[in-house]
Amino acid sequence: MSKVLIIGAGGVGRVVVHKCVQAKDVFSAITLASRTKAKCDAIAAEIAHFPIATAQVDADNIVETAALIRREKPNLVLNVALPYQDLAIMEACLETGVDYLDTANYEPRDTAKFEYHWQWNYQDRFRDAGIMALLGSGFDPGVTNVYTALAAKKYLDVIEEIDIIDANAGSHGQPFATNFNPEINIREVTALCRHWQDGRWIETPALATKRSFDFPDGIGPMNIYRMYHEEMESLVKHFPSIRKAQFWMTFSDNYLKHLEVLQNVGMTRIDEVEFQGQKIVPLQFLKAVLPDPGSLGPLTKGKTCIGVVAKGIRGGRKKQVYIYNICDHQVAFKETNSQAISYTTGVPAVTGAIMMLTGAWHKPGVWNMEQFDPEPFLERLAVLGLPTQIREDDQWLQLT
Ligand code: NDP
Repeated sequence: MSKVLIIGAGGVGRVVVHKCVQAKDVFSAITLASRTKAKCDAIAAEIAHFPIATAQVDADNIVETAALIRREKPNLVLNVALPYQDLAIMEACLETGVDYLDTANYEPRDTAKFEYHWQWNYQDRFRDAGIMALLGSGFDPGVTNVYTALAAKKYLDVIEEIDIIDANAGSHGQPFATNFNPEINIREVTALCRHWQDGRWIETPALATKRSFDFPDGIGPMNIYRMYHEEMESLVKHFPSIRKAQFWMTFSDNYLKHLEVLQNVGMTRIDEVEFQGQKIVPLQFLKAVLPDPGSLGPLTKGKTCIGVVAKGIRGGRKKQVYIYNICDHQVAFKETNSQAISYTTGVPAVTGAIMMLTGAWHKPGVWNMEQFDPEPFLERLAVLGLPTQIREDDQWLQLT
């Protein structure tokens, strides 16, 4: 039985707490810490019959975070704060000799760069300290890495192309809002698009390439837009046979219209500007006036469908496999008080934690999800609420 310290009390942190409580065979004690303790207390109050300890921490501060870890003595630190805190929390784990897990790669505040090298650089230090870091244990990155590993392990002799396709076919009825932290979300979708082709990254303008994809489970055709996403970097490294890797996401016309205007007027800038004698970052100001993603939970209806289309060769012939999950916003909300975007991130975070704490996935060093056996993870993920669906095809179907 294990004790976990969860850092970050946002939408994902809420789901992580609810789900850890459900996994009674693994977690015997839970501490939830965040910058604003009141948010931790509010989540703890939602949980009956299981005491959740709460604490205040500034996770940018290594000394403070290490002191919290020493006091709480967890077996694992589960980081669901923001990507800015990743390195500081990894340092605190090194100081205290405790395993680490996160759901998004480190980002420096002043440039929207989605690269693993900062965290991969910790490989030797984690290995030498005998502790483990599991990177990107959300849905994408996270489950999409595991789906790719499953395609390579069970369905294809050689994996040649992947399309990671993320649909939010739900609606919250607001004119413009993001489904998770607006600052992180808008940095991601406005970043230059990169996809992998024949051994190099090809750069194109953000969201400039559009296709249509016919989603399963009654969702039907939706427009998808190509963008960069961090899991492609680790996947093309760990599966060098992949010649082409692309990431696609659905956006409503309404979302794109608002985003274009916000960009044109400078509200998505991440550099400081002078305003009435004060320095402000326009995107951080925008975050303050947009709806809190946490408030969208009761309003959001519909489903998400996130998956990987993997193309390759099996038995000398072309073969395609589509591995995906469908998650319903209202079902997720009923169970955890959070919509499906937070749910599909929090459930894989807890599943990754269970893999580490039970020893199913455990080795010292810094690892991405696809470097472990996908099957025990997907079995537990299904038990925790995110079942995997699979469609096989004897031909390669092109996106139109
Ligand atoms: P929220 O903004 O809702 O929550 C973030 C939480 O972190 C807040 O409680 C915030 O505190 C806390 N926090 C921020 N800075 C600090 C700090 N310095 N010290 C301590 N706590 C801090 O974000 P989400 O819950 O939506 O997202 C959480 C993480 O999940 C993010 O890293 C995001 O990128 C990732 N994610 C991953 C996905 C995946 O599929 N892999 C998908 C979606 C999200 P306060 O409230 O006081 O600001």
